[in-house]
Amino acid sequence: MIEVTLLGTGSPIPDPNRAGPATLVRAGGHTFLTDCGRGVQQRLAAAGSSAGALTALLLTHLHSDHIADLGDLLITRWITTFDPDPAPILVIGPPGTAEVVDATLAAFGHDIGYRIAHHADITGPPRVDVREHTGGVVWEHDGVVVRAAPTDHRPVAPTVGFRIEHDGASVVLAGDTVPVRASTTWPPAQALSSTQ
Ligand SMILES: [Zn+2]
Repeated sequence: MIEVTLLGTGSPIPDPNRAGPATLVRAGGHTFLTDCGRGVQQRLAAAGSSAGALTALLLTHLHSDHIADLGDLLITRWITTFDPDPAPILVIGPPGTAEVVDATLAAFGHDIGYRIAHHADITGPPRVDVREHTGGVVWEHDGVVVRAAPTDHRPVAPTVGFRIEHDGASVVLAGDTVPVRASTTWPPAQALSSTQ
């Protein structure tokens, strides 16, 4: 079974009733978060999950509303994982993701320094394993397969969607896109409609 929880369906415009874009997918004992918009951690908590429980963070694209709480997510996972040698959080996204993660951690550099200095149970800086993809199988374990494929959110580019497969079921998480034919390479095939 694949369990999908819409944590946030908002847009860049703040809405008192909708958190920013984020979707939680549980499959085969693994937990995937797609995008991390505004308010994602409150919604994760409401869904009985947390930053520390994530197998991977999947980013569809680097628009601000889809990554608004990336820094909070990385820092919270780091300070709530009481493991002397914590595994890095896996972040899979389009090209540019590593630059965004590095810049985000740099922005929290003072905080990271304070916490290392003041908390004996925290070691090292946050560890993040970033993998940039635009297509193909990007993760596979325990019968769970995650595939990426290009989407069409131009002029924002590159952008990707993800298909998570488990036990004969699948779910696709596309972020912002017009309908587009399946492809594994960038740029995507011609859009199926001209609604952009
Ligand atoms: Zn967007």
